[in-house]
Amino acid sequence: MSPAFSICVYCGSRNGVAEPYSDTARAVGHWIGERGGQLVYGGGSGGLMGVVADAALAAGARVVGIIPQALVDREWAKRDCTELHIVDSMHERKRMMAERADAFLALPGGIGTLEELFEVWTWRQLGYHDKPVGLLDVAGYYQPLLGFLRSSVAAGFMNDWQMSLVRSGDDVAGLLAALVQDAGLRDRSNLSQI
Ligand code: AMP
Repeated sequence: MSPAFSICVYCGSRNGVAEPYSDTARAVGHWIGERGGQLVYGGGSGGLMGVVADAALAAGARVVGIIPQALVDREWAKRDCTELHIVDSMHERKRMMAERADAFLALPGGIGTLEELFEVWTWRQLGYHDKPVGLLDVAGYYQPLLGFLRSSVAAGFMNDWQMSLVRSGDDVAGLLAALVQDAGLRDRSNLSQI
């Protein structure tokens, strides 16, 4: 049976120092599994990536991991994914993750997570896709970044419409439900291919 929806989660290959980061990653995986969804992610078993994947699998989700060959050992490729794709490059990983998802969600993470978030955000503003993008602000982790982005609007380098293309919040269930709903309502006409 095909999954009810497919969410691509970007998050840290490390756990972070505070308990709420892992708790929230677990809650995200659980939410996806409980509702018959599919998790698409980077295919590693370390850090928050491993936590979200384990929780999703335990709750009955399909889990699609996509990892470049060069990172199989470094990020401990998660062999018990429902589908594990070992690809040739980071570009192929990101393209496949984007194609397999109905929506994107960033959890706390480092520069890899930020790069992935900004890529799907910028692709959306350019019309390469119209899939919803969410930012889960766990324990205020993203407040400094959101503050910086608001200052970028004030400085005239961004506008409110660009800001509106990412839904941010700290409520796991509320944010995930909104992303799934946004994905269902999107109009697929007149879009360029990713
Ligand atoms: P991090 O947030 O730095 O812990 O990394 C989270 C995930 O992002 C890991 O699976 C990294 O392999 C991945 N990553 C690192 N650099 C990049 C990049 N330039 N583009 C896409 N993903 C990346």
